[in-house]
Amino acid sequence: MDERDAAAVERFRELLRIPTVSHADETLIDEGPFDAFVAALPRLYPRTHAALEREIVDGHSLLYRWAGADAADPLVLMAHLDVVPVVSDEWEHGPFDAEIVGDGAEAAIHARGAIDDKGALVAILEAVEQLVADGYTPARDVYLSFGHNEETAGGGARAIVAALTARGVRPGLVLDEGGAVVEGAVPGVHAPTAMVGVAERGVMTVLLTARENGGHASTPPAFPATARLARAISRIHRRPFPVRIAPPVRALFATVAPHADPPYRWVFGNLGLTGPLLARVFPRLGAEMNALVRTTAVVTELAGAPGENVLATTARASVNIRLLTGDTVASAAARIRRIVADPAVEVEVRHGSDPSPVSPWRGEPWRRLATAVAAALPAPGGAQIITAPYIQLGASDSRWFTAISDHVYRFTPFHLTRAERDALHSHNERIRVAVWLRGIGFYRALITAS
Ligand SMILES: [Zn+2]
Repeated sequence: MDERDAAAVERFRELLRIPTVSHADETLIDEGPFDAFVAALPRLYPRTHAALEREIVDGHSLLYRWAGADAADPLVLMAHLDVVPVVSDEWEHGPFDAEIVGDGAEAAIHARGAIDDKGALVAILEAVEQLVADGYTPARDVYLSFGHNEETAGGGARAIVAALTARGVRPGLVLDEGGAVVEGAVPGVHAPTAMVGVAERGVMTVLLTARENGGHASTPPAFPATARLARAISRIHRRPFPVRIAPPVRALFATVAPHADPPYRWVFGNLGLTGPLLARVFPRLGAEMNALVRTTAVVTELAGAPGENVLATTARASVNIRLLTGDTVASAAARIRRIVADPAVEVEVRHGSDPSPVSPWRGEPWRRLATAVAAALPAPGGAQIITAPYIQLGASDSRWFTAISDHVYRFTPFHLTRAERDALHSHNERIRVAVWLRGIGFYRALITAS
């Protein structure tokens, strides 16, 4: 590792050690680390902070503008500085120690946020710092949009979009966290694939409530509220949303088809014939494949009586629903009511947002992304890396940007193993040092190609 890379890694580790933890319950949030994080950046990235304008939005979100030769069609690079909470004793290494474990190509930084999403945030800053040091001026304006409450769906990124909207800014390309470079995500395809989210699923929560008069548990009624609620839950579980192949998923298979082993090559290349069968097989190939071909619904919170010997006057369940492109909050709520089929169970939409619009996987912005992937993220052995569209399964801050840009993409430029992806939002989150450093090269390539 040369001196420049070694210094970058040390800055990354310093920022990973600041525990910018988000909590859904805002009273639990410690603002101190957020202040420290925001204050550390100008010291660590002096050139960036001299060359770019920085605004603090909504408390701790950050918006930077790097003036280019042309203000039209700016590039927006997004990331978030908050991380999800940790359960410290599950971790092999301290979640905020940023220890480097292993050596050579396997050396990895273990820390909450190593991938999600300080990995991207710090790589973006490193890329900008390097380019400013080189005396580079971008052809078009570049904005950096760093939200501070992405993990709790807070308002930071929305406030940034509101500020840009008021200034009439229409980004030509927006890139946020999302898919990564992965292997084996699609059966029969061995080549590393850069999975670029062109859309994300909608999110909604439905509250199911069953009520009764209450009383003592020694004399329960024939059909207590808890049993009624359980029946409703069971009906939802037994009747999942129908499978279908949405256009971005169709495009994913068309893109990987030429690289797939037979017979997958033929199956993916002839979706007109094989699509309906494929959609039925997918749910058996694991949770991710299932989520790619249908709206999913799962009961998360349950509540009943306040004591073990009293009847529940209300029994409640939250159903978390992720809407596939083509479904809506209204259509999903109607389906849940139909399936529950019980007027004594209230079905109330607590909150919901429809799936995002779909960005195109053709045209100039898409080519810029694919070119940066090919330039900066070489596959092992010099093999071809595939850049493919897909539907992002989780939600990201980028959904707010779809209001001001038709080209919103979700991709994190890191080559991640299955085990590394599983550590997201879990224990032992980590990123290999070499993988992270290549991510800096990707952001450089994207900025200079813009
Ligand atoms: Zn994230």
